[in-house]
Amino acid sequence: MTDHASPQSIRTEAIESLLIEKDLLTADAVDAVITTYTERVGPMNGAKLVARAWTDPDFKARLLTDATSVVEEYQFEGGQVEKLIVRECTAFDHHVVVCTLCSCYPWAVLGLPPAWYKDPAYRSRIVSEPRQVLAEMGLNLSESTRINVWDSSAEIRYLVLPKRPKGSEALSESELAEMVTRDAMIGVAQVDLP
Ligand code: FE
Repeated sequence: MTDHASPQSIRTEAIESLLIEKDLLTADAVDAVITTYTERVGPMNGAKLVARAWTDPDFKARLLTDATSVVEEYQFEGGQVEKLIVRECTAFDHHVVVCTLCSCYPWAVLGLPPAWYKDPAYRSRIVSEPRQVLAEMGLNLSESTRINVWDSSAEIRYLVLPKRPKGSEALSESELAEMVTRDAMIGVAQVDLP
């Protein structure tokens, strides 16, 4: 443990040690969950869908009309995509996702939600002043772009299909996937060429 461990991480380690000591949990089980969410479940899964949608119009059409069944075919781990809806950003329409009630999020395609996604300030302000909040997060949209805010729930999760960056025409699907970020798929960023 470092000198800079947060109170939360110290508390978590203490709880983990106690549970292991009392035979209620094994260290292997904890490691398995951590490995799952660092190596197999995360934004790299959503990025695969985005890159394929950018390069394959038929796939994109299916993703926009029935993302739930498309994601089922990929058999991603992580869950929370029992009903998934994908919204496509265009020059005229931008999409951004929130869960105003708590922190509902499509784990199988994005991994675990970032801390700011669960922050009451983000959850309330993205609804009341989305343009301002996005600008504060570094995304400045033109006044002519309409901003659509989608409220996730236990039943419905959303994934944003960002705009494909200009100048990326020569890139392969896997090169494109590497550029797609978690934040772009939540809708608080755009995808830029490196
Ligand atoms: Fe929620």
